[in-house]
Amino acid sequence: MVLKFPRLAGWASRRGSLWLLLLALVVALLGLLVWLAGRYESSLVQSRLEDHAALAVTDIRSGLNRNLQAVQALHARQHNAQAWQVPAAHLLHEHREILRLEWRNETLGMLGFVETPFRKSVFEQLDRTSLQADVSLVCTAARRMSGPAYSASYFLPQTDGLGTEVSDMCLPLTDAGRVTGYAVATYSLHTLLSELVSKPLSQGVGLSLTEADGTRLALYGIPSRGSRIFVAQHLLDLPGSTMVVRMESRLGTPALFPNVLTALVAAMALALLVVLFLLGRDMRRRLQVESDLGEALAFRKAMEDSLLTGLRARDLQGRITYVNPAFCKMVGVDAQELLNQSMPSPYWPPELAGVYQRRQEMRLAGNHLTREGHESVFMRKDGTRFAVLIMEAPLINAVGKHTGWMSAILDVSEQRRTEEVSRASQDRLQASARLAMVGEMASLLSHELNQPLAAISSYATGSLNLLAHASSDDQAPDALALSDDLRLAMGHIAEQAERAGKVIKSVHDFVRRSERVREAVAPRALLDAIMPLVILQARKLGMRISLEVDETCPPVLCDRTMVEQVLLNLARNGMQAMQSSDETSPPTLAPLGKVLTLRIRPAASNAHSQWVEFAVMDQGEGISGEVARQLFTPFFTTKKEGMGLGLSLCRTVIEQHGGFLGYESVQPQGTIFSFTLPVAAALPASGAAMQNMPGES
Ligand code: ADP
Repeated sequence: MVLKFPRLAGWASRRGSLWLLLLALVVALLGLLVWLAGRYESSLVQSRLEDHAALAVTDIRSGLNRNLQAVQALHARQHNAQAWQVPAAHLLHEHREILRLEWRNETLGMLGFVETPFRKSVFEQLDRTSLQADVSLVCTAARRMSGPAYSASYFLPQTDGLGTEVSDMCLPLTDAGRVTGYAVATYSLHTLLSELVSKPLSQGVGLSLTEADGTRLALYGIPSRGSRIFVAQHLLDLPGSTMVVRMESRLGTPALFPNVLTALVAAMALALLVVLFLLGRDMRRRLQVESDLGEALAFRKAMEDSLLTGLRARDLQGRITYVNPAFCKMVGVDAQELLNQSMPSPYWPPELAGVYQRRQEMRLAGNHLTREGHESVFMRKDGTRFAVLIMEAPLINAVGKHTGWMSAILDVSEQRRTEEVSRASQDRLQASARLAMVGEMASLLSHELNQPLAAISSYATGSLNLLAHASSDDQAPDALALSDDLRLAMGHIAEQAERAGKVIKSVHDFVRRSERVREAVAPRALLDAIMPLVILQARKLGMRISLEVDETCPPVLCDRTMVEQVLLNLARNGMQAMQSSDETSPPTLAPLGKVLTLRIRPAASNAHSQWVEFAVMDQGEGISGEVARQLFTPFFTTKKEGMGLGLSLCRTVIEQHGGFLGYESVQPQGTIFSFTLPVAAALPASGAAMQNMPGES
C-alpha cells in the first residue's frame, strides 16, 4: 500500500520548523535566564562587597576615633613627659596600628615618645627630624581645625629592604583654650587595616588603602587577580587627608555557575531541554502514528468507497449511524438524508414497512440473526423495488461493548433476474428434452410394437392356416381340437394386443410425466411375462433358453412394463448377437447348442441384500472395444434394422429405478448384461400395494 499525503508532508515540515523555532526560543530564554541569574548574583556580591567596604571604613573611622580618645585621655591624665611614657607604651601595646606616639610642645619640640613594642623602630632608616616639616604641616592644620588632623601618607623605608606606608595624626593639646603641645601618633596603614577592620569583613578579601588616584598605599589580605573581580571602593575621609578603602573580592567570582541559584536555573534549563527533547521524540512518534493512522484511514475509506457491497451501521435504537457510498448509490438516497434516520427507513417500500418494522423490533430485542443473511426488498428513491441480500452482525466496539448492528447489503436484483431467465430457459430445455424423449419413445414404440404385432400377425396367420387347412381337408375336422388351437392362438393374440397397449400406455405416461406407478413384483413374474415372446424368437432362430431363478428372491419395486421391456430388449440383443456370430464367424458351437441364459438372484451373496440382480447371458460375438465406447449412446447400432435406442433407454429406465445396468464379457464367448432393482422391503410381498413416486425429468 503506497499512499502519498502531500498535505501531511507539508504539515510535518511546518511543524518541524515550529519545533526548531520553539527550541531556539527556549535555548535563548534559558541562556538569558542563566545570564540574568549570573548578573543578579554578581550584583548581590557587588552590593555585599560595597556594604563590607562601607563597614570597613566605619570600622577604621571608629577605631581612629577610639584611638583619638585614648590619646586625649592619656594626655589629660599625664602632665609629665616622664610619667607619660608608661601609659603611652601601654596604649601602644593595646593598639598595634600606632607605630609611635610623640608628645611635642607647642613649638613641636619633642617632649617624649614611645614606639610600638611589636616591631623595630620604623624611623631607623629615615630620621624623624627629617620629617619635621611634614609633622609641622599636619600640626598646623590640626591647630587650625582645633582638632585632630591626619597627614598625607608617606613611605618609610625599612632596614630589611622593605618599607611601610604611614600617616601621622596630630592632636593639639589645649589647656584653657590655649595650645600647650601636640600629640603625634604615627599610624601604619597596613596595620590600620589589619587591626581596625573587623575580622569577618577582612577575611577572604583584598583590603587596601589607596590614594584618590588609585595608587595603592597599603594592602591587607590576598590581592585578587583575574578578569572578573568584584571591587568596592569607599572614601575614608579623615580630617586633613582623604584615602580610599578598596575591597577586592573573589568571593562569588562568577564561574560557569556562580551560585546555587544560577546552578539551579541552569539545571532547570537543562531539565527543560531534556523534557523538550523527550517531547520532541514523543511528538515524532505521535506524528509517525498519526501518519500511519492517516494512511490506514485513507486506505479504509478507499476500500469502503470502492466496495460494491452496501454497508450500513445502526445503533441500538435503530438509528443509522453509518452508510457507505455503495449503499447510498444502491438506494439512491444521500448519506445526509439517511444518517440519524430512525424507522421507517426511506428505502423501505411502504407496503412492507410494517413487516420490516416488526423484524427490526425483534432484532433490537436481541433475537438471533442468521449468519447466512436474509433476503429483503428495498426501494430506490424513484420508487423502483429491488431484491437485496442482507447480512447482519452485532457491532462490538473496542472495549467489547455491543453498540449496534452492522449490515452488509448486496443488490441481488440482477442475480434474481438472471436466475429467472435461467429457470425459464431450463424449463424450455426440459420441455425440449421431453420432446426429444417423445421422439425417442416414438421410435421405441415402433420398435417395441414390432414384436407384439409380429406375434399377433404370426398367431393370426397360424389361425388362418388352421382354418384353411380345416376347410380344405377332406376328412372331417376334429372340431374340438381346432377350436382349442384357435382359442389358444386367439388368447395369444389378445395377450400380445394387450401388451402392445401397455407399451403404448407406458410411453404415453412417460410423455405426460404423469406419476408413474411402481409396484412390488415378484422377479419371476417379470420373466414369465416376456417368456412367450422370447421363446418364440428363440425357436425361430434355433436357440435354447435357460432359466436360473433363485426363488427366494424377494419382490422388487418397479414399473413393471418398463422393466419387462428392458428384459425383453436385453434378451433380444443377446439372441441377435448369437445369430450374427453364427453368420460372420465359423461356428464354435452348433446353433442349436447356443443357449441364452436368463438369471435372477440377489445382488450380493448376503441374503439380506436390498437389491435383486437380473442377468441375460449370451454366447454371441461379444462386444469389441470400439462398440463398447458407444454402447449406451442413443442411435448407436451395428445392425441393419437397428435403432440404437434399446440400451440407452434400458439404462435410463434402470437408473430411474435407482439401479445399475452394466455388462461383462463371458468366457469363452459371449456377453452378460445385468441390472439391479431395489427390493420392495417395506411392502407386503403380495405386490398389490402401490406407491406413488414423484415424477422425475
Ligand atoms: P439395437 O439393438 O437397435 O442395435 P441397442 O442399443 O439395443 O440398439 O444396441 C446397440 C448395439 O450394441 C447393437 O447394435 C450391438 O452392436 C451392440 N450390442 C447390444 N447387445 C449386444 C450383445 N448382447 N452382444 C454383442 N453386442 C451387443
